[in-house]
Amino acid sequence: MARIYNIAKSTLALRQRKRFLLSQIKIHPDSLRASLVERFSRCGKANCHCHHGGGKHGPFYYLTQCLAVGRINKFLLTAPAQQQAARSAVEHYRQLQEHLEELSQINAQLLRRQENLGDD
Ligand SMILES: [Zn+2]
Repeated sequence: MARIYNIAKSTLALRQRKRFLLSQIKIHPDSLRASLVERFSRCGKANCHCHHGGGKHGPFYYLTQCLAVGRINKFLLTAPAQQQAARSAVEHYRQLQEHLEELSQINAQLLRRQENLGDD
């Protein structure tokens, strides 16, 4: 579900916001549509503290990417550098997607008002 942006503004304000968004939109080379998930878990050793009231093991970091219904690409990120790279990559994608979504909602509103959607 998309976030809903405030488009109940003057056409001038929408155009200004649109210009700002266009100046911010950048496709970072590491853009990655996925989630970074943190997990704590119990191990397979029955005598381990994690089965006897002690803390669970972790955190473990997984990258999960939904490709289609029931098709999830998921793997463990073992190296700290890998985890940091994933954090940055996921954030870059999220920013890009938010900016594009807001731009799209503004454009729909401009179209409704019979305004020009191109450069002005
Ligand atoms: Zn354990």
